Amino acid sequence: MNAVESKKIWLSSPHMGGTEQSYVKQAFDTNWVAPLGPNVDGFENDIENYLGESTNVAALSSGTAALHLGLKLLGVTSGDEVLCQSMTFAASANPIVYLGAKPIFIDSEEQTWNICPEQLEIAIKDRIAKKGKKPKAIIAVHLYGMPYKVDEIHKIASEYEIPVLEDSAESLGSSFHDIKCGTFGDIAILSFNGNKIITTSGGGALIAKNLELKNKAIFLATQARDNAPHYEHTEIGHNYRMSNIIAGIGRGQMEVLDKHVTNRRNNFSFYKNNLVDFDEIKFLDEPSGFYSNRWLSCIETSSFETREKLRLALGKENIESRPLWKPMHLQPVFADCDVYLNGISDDLFDRGLCLPSGSNLEEEDLFRIVSVIKKVLR
Ligand SMILES: *Cc1c(COP(=O)(O)O)cnc(C)c1O
Repeated sequence: MNAVESKKIWLSSPHMGGTEQSYVKQAFDTNWVAPLGPNVDGFENDIENYLGESTNVAALSSGTAALHLGLKLLGVTSGDEVLCQSMTFAASANPIVYLGAKPIFIDSEEQTWNICPEQLEIAIKDRIAKKGKKPKAIIAVHLYGMPYKVDEIHKIASEYEIPVLEDSAESLGSSFHDIKCGTFGDIAILSFNGNKIITTSGGGALIAKNLELKNKAIFLATQARDNAPHYEHTEIGHNYRMSNIIAGIGRGQMEVLDKHVTNRRNNFSFYKNNLVDFDEIKFLDEPSGFYSNRWLSCIETSSFETREKLRLALGKENIESRPLWKPMHLQPVFADCDVYLNGISDDLFDRGLCLPSGSNLEEEDLFRIVSVIKKVLR
């Protein structure tokens, strides 16, 4: 096939279900064109019902905004230290810096690619010994939809009484022992960015354990306006609320979330079944009790060279693929930050590749991708 003529296959593109526009039209028809309204309430309700576990959801302008407010609500301020999974997207760590606090990065473990319990505990002990002060929070991420080691991480967190901010941006629809991701942290966040499992074109949510905390998040997200006839402020606020138009897209997307999870899991199975015979490729299985939404289908290749050969061959055929997240401790912008390492995330970054994973991929797309991979490896 000629690369110029073949259809571009994206890593993860938006996938509308059909009813989104009717919710958006409703917002226009009733003139609810504002950062509040029935779609915002409805979208929050839909997410609360989906997650269960008596969650309280505040719809916001982005996952990054949710992380920023989450850290603020956990009391993180200037001079604090926050422990953060190193292998993640920069948005997990940036809000630490917005608050004048310092990120301390923690390496991954092999079974989920997420924050390593051993390194986490080593880091906590070491920070207390060195600084005489506990880190203020832990940011743990369910990377690519695979839950982090929930039991072990939260056991350590409660032992040292450090709150967990659960970054569930990539894991809506994932669960751990049948409990949905997004319900484990003292505060959790979701993202509805264009590439996520459901999207509002851009958006996010903060998930709180009680209504008071949700209301505080909404207060901070709407410029921290005190109760008065005029504008009165006793705190610094933000403009982080989700608009009623955007929330309409979210309501339509919630109707197809389960279908998206099924489709993405089917992508993963397709890759695995078709590539199982190649020693150069390994897939990350779900440990018992772990259920991943398989937001992105990722492979571990045998070497950096193999990974690059695959990535370039796919690119030549107009197929988008991407190395795994570059760990934060390798990012120039975080070069000064302390890090607790075991080598695992460096190795994954060298050898790992994300394959096209959209819930809207056709079977012929998947066959095309697999045939390119097979050609390289034969
Ligand atoms: C996408 C993402 C975010 C940020 O969400 P936005 O809505 O894009 O601000 C945060 N953390 C992780 C792990 C993500 O993948």
